[in-house]
Amino acid sequence: MTDCVFCRIADGDLPSRTVYEDDRVLAFLDANPLAEGHTLVVPREHHEVVGEMPDETRDAVFATAGRLTSVVESAVDADATSLGMNNGRAAGQEVPHAHLHVVPRFDGDGVGPLHALEWPRPDLSDDELDAIAERISDDV
Ligand code: 5GP
Ligand code: ZN
Repeated sequence: MTDCVFCRIADGDLPSRTVYEDDRVLAFLDANPLAEGHTLVVPREHHEVVGEMPDETRDAVFATAGRLTSVVESAVDADATSLGMNNGRAAGQEVPHAHLHVVPRFDGDGVGPLHALEWPRPDLSDDELDAIAERISDDV
């Protein structure tokens, strides 16, 4: 898609600080990083959300992100990484071409875990939890 910024990066029409690429994925530094070394892992093909990716593409995205964690940590002397995906507009996704964030973390950076987002936590009964688990396990 020519109006998609990540398609344009994948096609070489826009510059990026690409740190890895193969037939299925590329990874490049985020232009507005949350921390030094913040890297995005992106499928070459345009898929808006992860659920739309073919298995091989999705596997390549997650495998690449996994391999990048230790490499990125070493590159910026980080102590850990947070991996995250805003998967759909309601989840805060701004670029509608699926991508996985690999964000370096540092002891004492004060950011907190992903759980520190302001979640309106639901109060669920055991029956409700059982029903949700069943709906997921029936379809996965
Ligand atoms: P989202 O909110 O969609 O999960 O995150 C989009 C990310 O893409 C943001 O962190 C933003 O800084 C990054 N981004 C947006 N446009 C560009 C761009 O043209 N180049 C690069 N390298 N990153 C971008
Ligand atoms: Zn795209």
